[in-house]
Amino acid sequence: MTADKNHSRLKENFKLLSQEPLRRYTSFRVGGPADLLGLPKDRQSLVDLLLAAKKENIPVSIIGGGTNILVSDKGIRGLVIVLSEFKSLPCRVEAPQNTQKDTKTIIADAGERLSTVCNFAMDQGLSGLEFAAGIPGTLGGAIMMNAGTATWNISQAVASVETIDTKTLLYQTLEKKDLAFSYRKLCLEDNILLGAHFTLTTADPKLIRKRFDQQMKNKKATQPVSLASAGCFFKNPPNNLPAGKLIEDAGLKGKKINGAMVSELHANFIINTGNARCADILALKRLIQKTVFEKFQIQLETEVKVTGE
Ligand SMILES: Cc1cc2nc3c(=O)[nH]c(=O)nc-3n(C[C@H](O)[C@H](O)[C@H](O)COP(=O)(O)OP(=O)(O)OC[C@H]3O[C@@H](n4cnc5c(N)ncnc54)[C@H](O)[C@@H]3O)c2cc1C
Repeated sequence: MTADKNHSRLKENFKLLSQEPLRRYTSFRVGGPADLLGLPKDRQSLVDLLLAAKKENIPVSIIGGGTNILVSDKGIRGLVIVLSEFKSLPCRVEAPQNTQKDTKTIIADAGERLSTVCNFAMDQGLSGLEFAAGIPGTLGGAIMMNAGTATWNISQAVASVETIDTKTLLYQTLEKKDLAFSYRKLCLEDNILLGAHFTLTTADPKLIRKRFDQQMKNKKATQPVSLASAGCFFKNPPNNLPAGKLIEDAGLKGKKINGAMVSELHANFIINTGNARCADILALKRLIQKTVFEKFQIQLETEVKVTGE
C-alpha cells in the first residue's frame, strides 16, 4: 500500500485538510504545508484519528496554538493534529475534597486558551495563574513548554495532567510528582496532553486582577506582543545575563535578514516583518548565536521548537 493511498483514505474518512499551509496555524505566520491536517474537538475524534493514522503508518505531529513553534518552509510530512479546538467541556471547579481550605482545584482541557483558564481562575477568586497575562497559546502548549515568567512557571500550579500515549492509545493520569518539568520544558515522551488539574489559592479577587493587569502592562511595554513572532527565541543561559540583554549588547537590535528581524523593543524576539521564510529566521538565529558566542563565549539555546521537513 503506498503512502499516497493511506493519506487519501485517512483524508476521506476524517474530512482532513490536505496540503494545508501551516503559516495559518502559527503566530510566526511561517510554515509550509501539512500533508494532512485535522482539528479534533473531543477525545473520541482524537482517538479515532490517532488509531487510523497508526493503522495507515502515518506519522503524527501536534500543534496547540502554534505560538512557540517555527515550522519549516517545506512543511510537515504526515498528519498534523491541531489541538486549538480540543475542549469538550469548559473550565470548571472541582467539588472540594480533602484539600486545604484555602485552595481549590480547577480543571481545563488542553485546547482551552491559557488566557481563558487564567481569566476563569481570577473570576473564581483563585490565584496562581496571573503570570499568564499576555502569554498566547493553548493550555496544552503552555504545560508542554512549562510557560512562565522570570519568577513563576505553570508547573507551580499544576496538580496533575491527563494524557494519551500515541503508541498504545492508553489514557493516563500523571500526578505532579511524576512530571519531569524543567526550564521551558515538560518531557512526556510519546504522550499527548489532554487536560490538567490546577491547585490554586483563594485570594482577594481585586488583588489578583491587579497583579494580572500589572503583568500585562509590563509585557506590552517591553515586548512586541502585536507583531508576528514566537515569543522569546532563545532560553536564558543559566547564571548569566538574560538572552535578550546579551543579544542587545552584541549590537544586534534591528538586525535583518530578508523579512526576519531582531526586535528593536526586545532583542530576544525575532519578528516576521511580513514576508519572512523559515530559512530567513533560521539564518538570523545562526547569526545571533555566532555573534553572541564570539563576544561573550556563551552558546544560546533555542527555546522555540523548530519543526518540519
Ligand atoms: C507575543 C508572545 C509572547 C510570549 N510570551 C511568553 C512568556 O511570557 N512566557 C512563555 O513561557 N512563553 C511565551 N510565549 C511563547 C508561547 O506563547 C508559550 O510557550 C505557549 O505556552 C505555547 O503554547 P501553544 O499552544 O502555542 O504551543 P505550540 O507552540 O502549539 O506548541 C509548543 C510545543 O508543545 C507541543 N504541544 C502543544 N500542545 C500539546 C499537547 N496538547 N500535547 C502534547 N504536546 C503539545 C507542540 O508539539 C510543540 O512542541 C510567547 C509567545 C508570543 C508569540
